[in-house]
Amino acid sequence: MFDIAVIGAGLLGSAALRHLTVSFPELRVCAIGPAEPKNRKMHQGVFASHYDQGRITRVLDPSPLWGRLARESIAEYAKIEAASGIVFHHRAGCLRATDLPERIVQMDACAEQLSSPHSRLDDAGCRAAHPYLRFSDSFVAWDEVGEAGYINPRQLAAAQLAAAQNNGAQVIREIVDAIRCEQGGVTIYTRKPPSVPGQGEAIRARKILLCAGGYSNTLLDRKLSLRTKGHTILLAEVPVGEVERLRAMPAVISAFAHKDVSSLYMLPPVPYPDGKTYIKLGFGDADALPLPEPYFNAVQDDRELLDWFHTDGRQDLAEALKEALHRMLPGLNALSYHSVPCLITHTAHGNPYIDALDAGRMYVATGGNGAAAKSSDAIGRLGAMLCATGEWRSQFNRAEFHAVYADGGSK
Ligand SMILES: Cc1cc2nc3c(=O)[nH]c(=O)nc-3n(C[C@H](O)[C@H](O)[C@H](O)COP(=O)(O)OP(=O)(O)OC[C@H]3O[C@@H](n4cnc5c(N)ncnc54)[C@H](O)[C@@H]3O)c2cc1C
Repeated sequence: MFDIAVIGAGLLGSAALRHLTVSFPELRVCAIGPAEPKNRKMHQGVFASHYDQGRITRVLDPSPLWGRLARESIAEYAKIEAASGIVFHHRAGCLRATDLPERIVQMDACAEQLSSPHSRLDDAGCRAAHPYLRFSDSFVAWDEVGEAGYINPRQLAAAQLAAAQNNGAQVIREIVDAIRCEQGGVTIYTRKPPSVPGQGEAIRARKILLCAGGYSNTLLDRKLSLRTKGHTILLAEVPVGEVERLRAMPAVISAFAHKDVSSLYMLPPVPYPDGKTYIKLGFGDADALPLPEPYFNAVQDDRELLDWFHTDGRQDLAEALKEALHRMLPGLNALSYHSVPCLITHTAHGNPYIDALDAGRMYVATGGNGAAAKSSDAIGRLGAMLCATGEWRSQFNRAEFHAVYADGGSK
């Protein structure tokens, strides 16, 4: 019997597992979750939101809470890299540009509060610092340097799991089909019999921490208020010459009211496993698009999301992203384009749910809201501490992470 089983070996689950091994070395802990499928279009099981090479990381954020989560997580990156021997952090910088008055106020407040190294630029200053980038004629940009840039989310999850395994944790590569809370613990039923010595047909744990991302509700009887939303990203292949020309390019996040400027995020050229280098981009506020991305129920089982992950995302959005890319990087020489689908899991209040669903047995850390990759270490840590101790041992306000149920209630 495990003391704690983390369900889901993605970004939050792998972080939680490592923190359990660091803070509670006496506990027997495991993470249960499948590895990335080799062939997306043939795969019949669960997918994840981190199967990619780049996620933007930075502290400055319109939300002070998300800024603090990022700051705490970023402070751990070097430790995780050293403990695992896996490099995932790239200090390319992050430029946030906006002409929205409310956003400017929020960003200025956050920049003052969290004091991450940055320059506040007007449009002329931005053009001087990043001459290859175009937005509109009037905007403000926060050019964050220091630790800002991007992380490789696949490598971050691998690093967290490797560090946890070095500390004695087990990683069980199975899909969980059901969990049953019983006297004295939880029984976890996997799709195939687990290859864990002495466990029989199911895995037993005293407690579980549910970190199954967009699939979390498929394992719960009483569903959480989670909106799982499709997200289309465009990958533009760039040749060596463009990689060289754009070598100082930061990650970019734009939010504009100006009708000819897009609100999106974009990474600098990043190498991918196919040997090519891509600039990746996606729309920021997909709900504001003329044809919004689809929402999914994702409450019964993983088959509800299969059709989406077998597509290449929305082709009309991919075309719009292509136009936006060339508006923001005029003169870009791209060799090819393709789009891929992803999934974003929104909570009712916009913060992750980190809570006890059945105190003493079942805990949850889920709901990345499209922003949790960079902050996954701190979110996973909060979930791990709550699950292991039953107590909230953190400066963060627990109420900001409470789980909301789909029926409108909390616990
Ligand atoms: C296109 C895109 C761009 C993004 N960009 C950024 C960014 O720039 N910066 C940023 O900070 N964040 C970004 N995010 C958000 C970030 O990737 C997510 O918030 C993060 O991956 C959430 O982590 P998670 O652990 O909750 O979910 P995941 O990483 O999806 O992990 C969940 C895990 O649960 C497992 N699982 C599911 N069901 C089961 C089951 N039944 N049994 C066992 N295991 C199961 C899955 O296999 C998966 O590994 C982006 C997201 C998307 C989609």
